[in-house]
Amino acid sequence: MERSHRLQDIRTLSRDELADVVAELGQPAFRTKQLCVWIFAKQATSFDEMTNLPKKLRDQLVERFVFGVPTEVAKQISRDGSRKYLLEFADGTSVETVGMPSRNKLSVCVSTQAGCAMGCAFCATGFNGLSRSLTAREIVDQVLHVARDFDERVTSVVFMGQGEPFANFDETVAALRILNDPDGLAIGARHLTVSTCGVIPGIRRFAELPEQFTLAISLHSAVQATRNKLMPGVKKYTLPRLHEAIQLYVEKTGRRPSYEFAMIDGINDTNPEMEALIDFCQGTLCHVNLIQLNDTPGSLMKPSPMKKVETLQKRLQMHGIETTIRNSRGNDIDAACGQLKQRHMHL
Ligand code: SAH
Ligand code: SF4
Repeated sequence: MERSHRLQDIRTLSRDELADVVAELGQPAFRTKQLCVWIFAKQATSFDEMTNLPKKLRDQLVERFVFGVPTEVAKQISRDGSRKYLLEFADGTSVETVGMPSRNKLSVCVSTQAGCAMGCAFCATGFNGLSRSLTAREIVDQVLHVARDFDERVTSVVFMGQGEPFANFDETVAALRILNDPDGLAIGARHLTVSTCGVIPGIRRFAELPEQFTLAISLHSAVQATRNKLMPGVKKYTLPRLHEAIQLYVEKTGRRPSYEFAMIDGINDTNPEMEALIDFCQGTLCHVNLIQLNDTPGSLMKPSPMKKVETLQKRLQMHGIETTIRNSRGNDIDAACGQLKQRHMHL
């Protein structure tokens, strides 16, 4: 522990600085290239992995550097096989990350911020506000942690943990690119999904990216008054403007966005709410994901009965709108959507 505090994280060095280290250690220049591939492309988290470097060089590097990976403070395993981790970074900030295995796939749900400033009424993450945004490194380290714990290749990543990705746009995109790098983790762009509560400037910038990353929008109501109550942080990005920004995204990218709709008893599952949602979606390229609200402690809101969820699905489908009912995973360990809390470890 002591040691790791004194030594520098090798991943903070530039290529030139790495070249200096290699020269200082009396190694030929091509070792720099090898080291760079391990660090920047393959996203190694230990020197042991660098099997094409001589043992002596690896030992020398261990003496001088560390990998500043987060510490696993807690891990819970769900009945459905999902694992939720509480990971702590060097400054004491912690976030939750979830690994979700299914057959030969492994999906990871990452946090982009510790906490969230958006204050959605139904979401446990927002209750304590925002601690801070994460760096791209910290976002990628969550994926590497899950890959190591399962000892499996990660096949998809959803940016649906704590935080609003478009309130941390640059680091989110940098992380997407690292995960997508064909020489590294090589996770296909379409298997990298970013979920936003509807931050319009972020949607516009996302539409300009050359990569085919997937976009999900947390809609939860197509009635302005209801949405304002549920999601006060995005009040200023009104539904007509949101609709327009999404259509622009579709025109630019040709990609199909999905809408997240967590059904809340008596709030967004009424007849007028269903009609408004149909109006919002009809005739556009989209996919609606319906889920029953997950319980969060202290909240008065309750999930809609399954019958209502099925009714809405049928009505959407009748209007030609693709709709899936999603089961929340990791419910029993509070790892499902909106249940990731900001924990203050030192309280
Ligand atoms: N901030 C981003 C991404 C993280 S939230 C966003 O809001 O899109 C991930 C998803 O969980 C979002 O769709 C969010 O609306 C949803 N969610 C939050 N609380 C929930 C709850 N209690 N039940 C079901 N889904 C919830
Ligand atoms: Fe933040 Fe998303 Fe939770 Fe809203 S739903 S508080 S935007 S994490």
